[in-house]
Amino acid sequence: MISTKEEFFKYLAQTSTIPMAVEIDKAEGVWLYDNKGKRYLDLISGISVNIIGHRHPEVIKAIHNQLEKYLHVMVYGEFILSPQTKLAQRICSTLPSSLNNVFFVNSGSEAIEGAMKLSKRASERTKTISFKNGYHGSTHGAMSIMGCESAKNSFRPLLPDTDIITFNDTDSLSRIDNKTACVVAETIQGEAGAITPDKSFMKALRERCNETGALLILDEIQCGVGRTGKLWAFEHYGIVPDILTIAKGLGGGLPIGAFVASKDLMHQLTHDPVLGHISTFGGNPLCCAAALATLNVIINEKTYLKAESKEKLFKANLKHHFIKSIKGKGLMLAIEFESFEQNKRIIDRCIQKGIITDWFLFAPHCLRIAPPLIINEEQIIEACNSINEAIEEEEEEKRRKIIN
Ligand code: PMP
Repeated sequence: MISTKEEFFKYLAQTSTIPMAVEIDKAEGVWLYDNKGKRYLDLISGISVNIIGHRHPEVIKAIHNQLEKYLHVMVYGEFILSPQTKLAQRICSTLPSSLNNVFFVNSGSEAIEGAMKLSKRASERTKTISFKNGYHGSTHGAMSIMGCESAKNSFRPLLPDTDIITFNDTDSLSRIDNKTACVVAETIQGEAGAITPDKSFMKALRERCNETGALLILDEIQCGVGRTGKLWAFEHYGIVPDILTIAKGLGGGLPIGAFVASKDLMHQLTHDPVLGHISTFGGNPLCCAAALATLNVIINEKTYLKAESKEKLFKANLKHHFIKSIKGKGLMLAIEFESFEQNKRIIDRCIQKGIITDWFLFAPHCLRIAPPLIINEEQIIEACNSINEAIEEEEEEKRRKIIN
């Protein structure tokens, strides 16, 4: 009989040449268990998804309750479904009053597509500006604004009228002009290696958008929902976007995304043409119920407020001269090494030691630390000890190679 691992390589589309290929049997809290019963501490949360851990009891309860009532019943926006309305209200209750209307979709990329379309429709402009090393998804529109030319070249032609400028460089903001429909920025760049901008840059970005009438889209698909120590990362910078995109952590393990704007702005999607954006599965009731439970846990238990002290604990316990820097904010951190090769060897050793981590798309020399926010002090120390050990073994290996 063919094993699950063989089926994985035979039948599943492979996009990575080096998949981790850990066969997961179950997951609970911060722990993943493979098919041989080995336990792993999850330092990446399925890339910033399992924000309150795997299978949080409140999320499971909400899913069960909804399961008993109904699953999909109609395309998005026709029937009145309380999981959707309650979640939209809850999201808006956490945001500044100008962000008071939510369009639910199924993923981060779709949230970006919707936000880009809304900005074009509302501004009647076509130009889009985004940032070097920015990642916004893998669909055509989202890929058009990706800040990495080599990843895009095989998929051209992409959207016309896009311009990529430098993140955290105030001078480059002059390229935003009165032909610009929108500027799309991750509040904290994820795949670039957890790059935090200066407050002055974010203020200047907001001002330049105001001056030119370009809509500011902040992508918090990776950095939102409490990951950086505030519920929304833009709160660190004292600015408010015109459109906010969210996904990943929002669903607590189920797929959901959203773009949020003012009611006036969002209203543009109802005419010229009518049904300006359509989604069959957007706002799936089960996903909305899971998302509402997730958000309620994070807000009621103030889980996100502890991200900053946990960041400090990681930084205090990760000490080695191979570490060139630790970037990021809260529990969205990147440990910078000399090269991808060195980082990959350290990551592989971590996985052997029962610590799941990986690297970043546009910063392959950086090791990702984005555990569920519920990770406790003891688990942080355990993770740091294993990472330090993996680095020491790397140093030992290097020494041996020099001697031979
Ligand atoms: N924006 C950002 C900042 C992301 O990190 C990602 C996913 N890594 C996306 C958009 C795309 O999300 P999805 O994979 O759900 O389409």
